Amino acid sequence: MKKVSILGATGSVGVNTLDVIERHPELFSVIALTANENIDLLYEQCIKFRPKLAVVVNTTLADKFIAKFNGEQYKPELASGKDALKLAASYDEIDCVMAAIVGAAGLPATLEAAQAGKNILLANKEALVMSGDLLMKIAKQNNSQLLPIDSEHNAVFQCLPIGNDRCEIEKIILTASGGPFLTKSLAEFEEITPEQACVHPNWEMGKKISVDSATMMNKGLELIEACKLFDVNVKDVEIVIHPQSIVHSLVAYPDGSVLAHMAYPDMRVPIAHALAWPQRINSGVDVLNLTEIGALEFSKPDYHRFPCLQLAYDAMAAQQSATTVLNAANEVAVNSFLNEKIRFTDISSVIDATLQDIEHVVVDELDVVLEKDQQARSYAQSFIRDSLVRH
Ligand code: NAD
Ligand code: MG
Repeated sequence: MKKVSILGATGSVGVNTLDVIERHPELFSVIALTANENIDLLYEQCIKFRPKLAVVVNTTLADKFIAKFNGEQYKPELASGKDALKLAASYDEIDCVMAAIVGAAGLPATLEAAQAGKNILLANKEALVMSGDLLMKIAKQNNSQLLPIDSEHNAVFQCLPIGNDRCEIEKIILTASGGPFLTKSLAEFEEITPEQACVHPNWEMGKKISVDSATMMNKGLELIEACKLFDVNVKDVEIVIHPQSIVHSLVAYPDGSVLAHMAYPDMRVPIAHALAWPQRINSGVDVLNLTEIGALEFSKPDYHRFPCLQLAYDAMAAQQSATTVLNAANEVAVNSFLNEKIRFTDISSVIDATLQDIEHVVVDELDVVLEKDQQARSYAQSFIRDSLVRH
């Protein structure tokens, strides 16, 4: 039995993780579940999976959550507040931690899981973008295995040689669907609404990553994620638009071989892979019907249409804390866009201005990361207030 903790259980990745676990009661037991605010869903999940520990991050909702168990025979141990996430990440008997909190909020608990030597199923790409070197170092020191959940990185992981004998690779090819605005007229970009940006053609995801996919910052974050996870340079990663989202990524070798991972676009595929690794289990997703799919297309990304993608390259070139700043400014900008304070096209302006304003330093401990994160957030917020807010 693998004992699993799910950070961000009520989100899109969290729910898909429980869907896979439910198919294999003999293989997995759920030890801890966490949620920020959705206590109704967390309660339902607890009743079904009976974790020992439940974490409600928003402290004002903790009493209301635990009162739901009145009259029940089962009641989980309850912890609340940000620090409680660390408890869920390092609980003694846990074998693996699904890191599925969105954004910078997931970083401290992910680092804690690495410190505790847990296997980490890493969906929270922002943790790697903010402090990839630190996370990789701590994971290595503590024998914590990182298994990528992001479909592209999970695909790359599957196409790389097994074990430690890494042979030379030519390049990693990350595919990108191009999101909902791949062919939309550029003249209409200013008027894009949050609702339009949150509808992805192939994937159903949380709002933040949906907007990131629409600006293609998601692929920028994934470029950084790939460099950190697989220890490769930016020049060894190619980004290719593939609107069908069937080929999830590829690895090219010096002999001309290119290995690809293909599946229907359903997060249960990478989740089941990482949960069972190194075994294989049923994910609930059908095997591809290639003749039904017919054609697969590939093309180059348009950096003019998607300036956020270029900004991710700029941050990687600037090195050091620039990717921490990129991530923080993006989170602030996306949030403001979702709250209709700024336009879709302003998102890249906020990130660009923040990247240019903030000085980059070496990131060698969590405090430095958090300080840069805060600094970038404050700058991005004041830039939005002073230069962009629609009156
Ligand atoms: P989501 O918005 O659906 O869910 C986010 C989860 O995080 C929820 O459980 C929420 O309670 C929790 N959360 C939010 N803010 C929090 C805070 N401040 N403190 C503690 N918990 C908080 O997001 P998602 O789409 O499931 O994405 C989760 C992560 O996985 C993101 O980093 C995303 O980039 C990555 N990812 C998602 C997908 C996908 O298909 N959804 C694919 C690849 C990678
Ligand atoms: Mg992805």
